[in-house]
Amino acid sequence: MHKKTAIWGAGRNGITFLERCNAEIVFFIDSNREKTGTEIDDIPIVHPDDIEDYSKLFIVVAVADSKQIVESLEAKGLIWREDYIRDFEWVAGSVATETAVEALKYACFEEKLSAGEVLEVYHTKEEYFAVREQHSDFLRFERSLDKLFREMPGHYGVYRGYCSCCESQSDFVIDYPFGLHPGFRETCRCVKCGCNSRMRFMVDFVKKEYPKRDISIYMNEYITPTYREMKKFFPGLIGSEFLGNDHVAGEIVSGIRHEDATKLSFADEQFDAVVSNDVYEHVGDFMKAFEEVVRCLKKGRKFIFSVPIYSLREETVRRAEIDAKGSYIEYLPKEYHGNPLSTDGSLVFTEFSYDIIHFLEEAGFSEVHFVSYGSVECAHFGLMPMIIVATK
Ligand SMILES: [Zn+2]
Repeated sequence: MHKKTAIWGAGRNGITFLERCNAEIVFFIDSNREKTGTEIDDIPIVHPDDIEDYSKLFIVVAVADSKQIVESLEAKGLIWREDYIRDFEWVAGSVATETAVEALKYACFEEKLSAGEVLEVYHTKEEYFAVREQHSDFLRFERSLDKLFREMPGHYGVYRGYCSCCESQSDFVIDYPFGLHPGFRETCRCVKCGCNSRMRFMVDFVKKEYPKRDISIYMNEYITPTYREMKKFFPGLIGSEFLGNDHVAGEIVSGIRHEDATKLSFADEQFDAVVSNDVYEHVGDFMKAFEEVVRCLKKGRKFIFSVPIYSLREETVRRAEIDAKGSYIEYLPKEYHGNPLSTDGSLVFTEFSYDIIHFLEEAGFSEVHFVSYGSVECAHFGLMPMIIVATK
């Protein structure tokens, strides 16, 4: 489980550590009652007795003499490197990680670092597995990174690279927000813009696809880092969220535009591009939603999006759907994914596979293909994830 990082010691060592680490710190812990309730750099200081659950924390002990504090943590059942670490161990670990990552690059790619770049186009399961075979060095590199970072204290580490959203060198935080899964599609967040691996790739891909930025794009997200970063490059971008069935498509609710993917409020042929990240698996009638994208796109323009593709299967599985009459029909037990607007998460209606190409063609697209990607330099990871490009 993903833990929150806290610094034990709101003195000189704690402040020095805060400056050198790239971690997100939830609070300082300090037994000096006079400091309780005050802040350092907007980070609150709490008293050790006021912490209800130590198991949710990863504690960095940053005091000159840590013996007593470490003993008290061990008395609480906390384990070194799993639940706590000393500040100098963390710093030494960061230096060691950087060296280890460089060594892995050398081991996996030798002199030909260009092999650390992947951008492949394909249509079928066979072709996808051929791409994986062709880039087995890249996959080996990412699996080795996973092996390295999962062993790090608190299962947390930093990877250096170029952020295509920030357009500068940055640090990418690798942690395990959904447990110790291999593949960094949902992690590797830039410390500057907050975009994870799949978000940064999507922004990068759309930027390269449209070097002329004065175009109209629609994205069915708004309160996300991806929308914010895209808007920097494409001022004509329109974003929306689904705010529930009580609202009318196009309605602005507290500054957020509401849209329903199955009945968009936009005009026919309004957009030069439609971009979407992991939304259509949550739409009750995805065919209707794809037809809506076709309707709103200009002819010859593209729908660029991601949904989880079940790469080992041949066919799409419907867990549930909303039929033409609006009735909810359940085929398989309910499953949810994370949703920035709701702690309940979003219900998964569809588990897509390669036949999504046929659904999109049926909806009216003339050409559809998959793109797989990876980049050592830009930290585009995810064990060869896929996006879909459909042209009207
Ligand atoms: Zn960034």
